[in-house]
Amino acid sequence: MIKVIVFTDLNLAFFTRKKYGSGPATAEFPGTRSVKDLIESLGIPHVEIGSVEISGSCSNEKLSLTDLITQDCRLNVLSVEAARSTGHYAAEFPSPGDAGFIFIPDVHLGRLAVNLRMLGFPADYSNSRSDEELARLADSAVNGLKAIVLSCDRGLMMRRCIKYGMVVRSREPVRQTIEVLQRFGLSGRAAPFSLCFNCGGLLEDAGALDNLSDAEKNSLPLKVRRLQDEYRRCTSCGQLFWKGSHYRSLAAKAAGIISAAAG
Ligand SMILES: [Zn+2]
Repeated sequence: MIKVIVFTDLNLAFFTRKKYGSGPATAEFPGTRSVKDLIESLGIPHVEIGSVEISGSCSNEKLSLTDLITQDCRLNVLSVEAARSTGHYAAEFPSPGDAGFIFIPDVHLGRLAVNLRMLGFPADYSNSRSDEELARLADSAVNGLKAIVLSCDRGLMMRRCIKYGMVVRSREPVRQTIEVLQRFGLSGRAAPFSLCFNCGGLLEDAGALDNLSDAEKNSLPLKVRRLQDEYRRCTSCGQLFWKGSHYRSLAAKAAGIISAAAG
């Protein structure tokens, strides 16, 4: 039997605490095992791992998730957050300067998807998508974008085809949104009300009421036509938006999320 003692940081203790308490986790197995399989057997999905080091007699050696464990050893596993803050994070990863990504929240995270769109971050969400469909979508580039899967389901996030992702810890949508912004360093890149709440398409200025088509004008409630003279249109689904009665509370919500994520 091979015995491996695994040390993690506090972010990853979220996954191991229940079974292993506050101490290191221990795994014993016959034969050999990949680093990914070993760490996931402790309950930590690979998307949460920022770096892995094997403790040697005089120095630590970095391991990749596909390396094999062939003898007794100690592993230091850092979360994405910890690895990034200590400069150990080497994996290709969507960064704050990289606009080429899209979030794919799972079927249970509709309100998180709406919050992300409200803040200007693209989210491909469907309330009828199965885990299999989601995994297939994550595996194929969505319009050439990197797919970042968001889910509370750690089993789903262990699937090999999901390269980028995050296990969302909170069950509360605002907290979830803050978690995502913090994880991906996005608070400084938010652009509230730049994307369609319904489909995530880009919004463009549609001008004043006179600039709208007759069909668009007729689709608006009379009160809106009377009070609003500044409209935006989704370039994807055509939906019109205006600063209605909910605008102030939504703007305050967006500002609150951005501020909490930055702090
Ligand atoms: Zn739209």
